[in-house]
Amino acid sequence: MAKYHELGTPKNVLPLNKINALPSYNLKQSNYEYADKISGEAFAEEVLARKVSCSGCPIGCVHVGGLRKLFDAGYEYEYAGVSYDHELVFSLGSQVGMKNTSDVLNLINETEEVGLDAISCGVILGFMTEALVRGDIKITDTLVELNFGETAGYLAAIRHLASPPNDFYREIGRGLYNYTRKKADGSHDYALHLGGLEMAGYFMGPAHLAGGVTGIRHSHLDNAGYSIDQKLLKDAAQLSAKTVAEKIIEEEVIRSVYTSLVICLFAREVYDLETVCRALAALDIHKTPDELKAASSKILKVKLELREKMGFKLENFPLSERYFETPSPYGLIKREFTDEILKHYGELIKNI
Ligand code: SF4
Repeated sequence: MAKYHELGTPKNVLPLNKINALPSYNLKQSNYEYADKISGEAFAEEVLARKVSCSGCPIGCVHVGGLRKLFDAGYEYEYAGVSYDHELVFSLGSQVGMKNTSDVLNLINETEEVGLDAISCGVILGFMTEALVRGDIKITDTLVELNFGETAGYLAAIRHLASPPNDFYREIGRGLYNYTRKKADGSHDYALHLGGLEMAGYFMGPAHLAGGVTGIRHSHLDNAGYSIDQKLLKDAAQLSAKTVAEKIIEEEVIRSVYTSLVICLFAREVYDLETVCRALAALDIHKTPDELKAASSKILKVKLELREKMGFKLENFPLSERYFETPSPYGLIKREFTDEILKHYGELIKNI
């Protein structure tokens, strides 16, 4: 866990960029030419002010950067401590073409101040920027010019997303799935959501896509499809869709143990299931790792049933074309292969 203490999760920026897994410019690229300017190393050297831990955690992965903002003539500055991590460095960094750490912190700070989800916010801003260029939306919708790499327009748009001044912001502020499903202009083809939730900052391969659509909250943390892609990459040539589907379910079952016990997912390799069982034994709760997994399968089954009752259907969330146009570490991802993973997933979850 040293890497998360030293640089925090933005430690991942450069390695992901090197293998074509860092989404940039609304995923028109998976390799960002300014990655070194917004890397974990750049943040640590330029703006890192302190490291913070959640209560009782020895890891301390929360990194807080110092943001100095001029608010008036006469050298009038205000100072804010802004926490940053990989997902935000992607969504309000490479996704919208930011080229330095202060600009990324500035956008994160604005997003936090108005109370928006920073991943969704940045992914929506990247979409809006491309949609303006394509002519699918107009400046009469956005009310401000949006260009990759320019903070002023994005700062204004963030405020509009939080307090919508028109129907456009009201609709798009409810997410890209909500916005594009009502459009016949083809904008779904470059709307970066997975199962209705804006994508996180990993473009690792087919398991990340399938895992995002199927995950119980559509979070990259539900089953860590990106990590499955990473582990399977060396065997990419022999990869079977069924194996990927099995691993997605297996990982989501294990992660349900952690989320049910409110254990931080970053710390899951420190607190493996044997360690969790020893900790529970100290409370006179005696379980084996297999018993924990069995309980977790039941929990996941209940969650999936509830989601289905609430109207969720996989087929209502087709993957955007953009995911298949931009090279990933696997090269171009094949839609047929991803569809096959989803088909196996649908069969396998009937038996959990
Ligand atoms: S509990 Fe998790 S999120 Fe909090 S400091 Fe520790 S590793 Fe980071």
